[in-house]
Parts: sequence; C-alpha cells; structure tokens
Amino acid sequence: MGCREVLPKRKMIRIVRTADGVQIDRTGKLAGRGAYLHDRRECWERGLKGALGHALKTTLTTEDQARLEEFMNTLPADAATENAGLVSSQM
Ligand SMILES: [Zn+2]
Repeated sequence: MGCREVLPKRKMIRIVRTADGVQIDRTGKLAGRGAYLHDRRECWERGLKGALGHALKTTLTTEDQARLEEFMNTLPADAATENAGLVSSQM
C-alpha cells in the first residue's frame, strides 16, 4: 500500500474493490480486497495517481476515480503535516 506510515486505524480510511467498483468502506465491513489511505488529501492524491489501483490490483475506472476524488475533496488538506503522506522517516 502507498501509505506505510502508521497512524491509528481510525485515522485511516478503507477502500475496497467490490463487484460494483472501488468503494469507500465507511463501515469497515465490505468484503473484498482492501487498502487503507490516511484521511489526508495528500495521501489520496498520491494514491489516485496509481498506488491505490496497484494495491487493489485493479485499474481504477473513470467512475471509481470520480467517486474517490469526490470523497478526497471532503478531506482536510493538512499542510501542517510535514511529510504530507510520504513514508515516515522515523527509526
Ligand atoms: Zn498516507
């Protein structure tokens, strides 16, 4: 997955590949291959560029992209977070 930085699970959003396309799993109960992205816009921008489709082993359709972008736009753009979704350099 693109987001290897560890944050509490409640800070991460599950995305699942289902028969109806790639869906945001708000309940955490959708069956299917899933991936997690942080609830930060930067992570989603990066994920939508390819990491997410790679993690889900699928190619995002135009509809998937639109759905995910719509959700992404509701997320905070957290400029105060220095790493902006990049892999944490701690250790
Ligand atoms: Zn991230």
